[in-house]
Amino acid sequence: MTKFFQPEIETASREEIRAIQNEKLVKQVKHVYENVKYYRDLMDEKGVTPDDIKSVDDIYKLPFLTKADLREAYPYGLLGTDLKNCVRIHATSGTTGKRVVAFYTQNDIELWDDCCARAIIAAGGSSEDICQVAYGYGLFTGGMGLHGGSQKVGCLTLPMSSGNTERQIEFMQDLHSTIICCTPSYAAYIGETLKEMGLTPDDIDLKAGIFGAEPWTEEMRRDIEKSLGIKAYDIYGLTESTGPGVAFECEAQTGMHINEDHFYAEIIDPETGEVLPEGSKGELVFTNLDKEGFPLLRYRTRDICVLSTEKCSCGRTLIKMAKPMGRSDDMLIIRGVNVFPSQIETVLIKEGYSPNYLIEVDRIKNNDTLDVYVELSPEQFSDTVKDISKNEKSLADAIIQMVGIKPKVHLVAPKTIKRSEGKAVRVIDKRKLHD
Ligand code: ADP
Ligand code: ZN
Repeated sequence: MTKFFQPEIETASREEIRAIQNEKLVKQVKHVYENVKYYRDLMDEKGVTPDDIKSVDDIYKLPFLTKADLREAYPYGLLGTDLKNCVRIHATSGTTGKRVVAFYTQNDIELWDDCCARAIIAAGGSSEDICQVAYGYGLFTGGMGLHGGSQKVGCLTLPMSSGNTERQIEFMQDLHSTIICCTPSYAAYIGETLKEMGLTPDDIDLKAGIFGAEPWTEEMRRDIEKSLGIKAYDIYGLTESTGPGVAFECEAQTGMHINEDHFYAEIIDPETGEVLPEGSKGELVFTNLDKEGFPLLRYRTRDICVLSTEKCSCGRTLIKMAKPMGRSDDMLIIRGVNVFPSQIETVLIKEGYSPNYLIEVDRIKNNDTLDVYVELSPEQFSDTVKDISKNEKSLADAIIQMVGIKPKVHLVAPKTIKRSEGKAVRVIDKRKLHD
């Protein structure tokens, strides 16, 4: 079984990778300067010209792009080529505001498919596999992205899209799917449905899952692995840079290898914009080294994580990014304390609860309130009805330990929290409604 889709890149020396990046960056900056007026203006404003960029060491001189720029330039302001050379668009799911559209040439799609193919091979996939794609198809990049990668690997591809969970499981059984691709929250839901249908992981042939598009914890990973009887791999991406496959996990399951021949990654201090040394936690910034349709230079993702070039046991030399903790704009500030929803998820699963939860934040008489609704499984529900308030208190204590502030925990009946077929909505911040 091949271990790599493109070994010449995936296992190249750091020097070779750097040389590829230098060459591509110099060309890309020149191209963008000449063809994208919006970015040329930003460069002019900063007093930097393409001649100032001789290698990736000079990248810090370039201006950043933010989501606000993408909205301002909507829809065509950041196009890198004539619209007639583009063959497709995708749009962000609009998790945090108005959609952003991205354009792809045929070549962009080929390279994107390669990235997803690398991810599928890294998850142990091959042309022998039957790959069920249960990410949403459409403007969202998840479905089409993994679909393209799966076909490139030569898997038999099931373009299921998300939803209709019992039918997903029927197909999985009848066609013997071996790989599933979807959001982690949907994978958890499929696992739950499998159980409800009276089936166990032994009744299906899945061996691996490729899950991403939203933050998820290690605890959630173990839960999904158990409920579906698979090994669960993380995959990262964003529409602005291309879609899933910007980075992917290997068998080591200790962070995702970034496809550095296409995406140059930096970690910056989100406050000052300063580039931080390897190993620092900060905001991830990506530069598209060879994208034609929508070539973004120094795009600030708002995802907070850490990079590492430490040697990986899989043999890949591509730099690794840690699982993002969530976006800087997912971070809640409650009574002055920074809280990531993923921290609460970690506690819930550790304490034996389901990943079906909802966090509600409000401000009542100038005081922030934090309510955490957690769904009980049917067994927990029948066992613990009389102990509910005791269990609520002990879960609240565990959350205080993790995040430092006191929540009000509500253990609720099975099936009362809405399941997600795509990206889960975990937080309702009612304070925003009052503003
Ligand atoms: P939107 O910005 O509307 O959500 P996208 O679908 O392009 O649009 O979402 C990209 C974002 O999803 C990333 O910036 C990141 O915050 C999140 N994301 C994607 N993959 C992962 C992952 N594996 N782990 C954590 N977060 C992820
Ligand atoms: Zn690896």
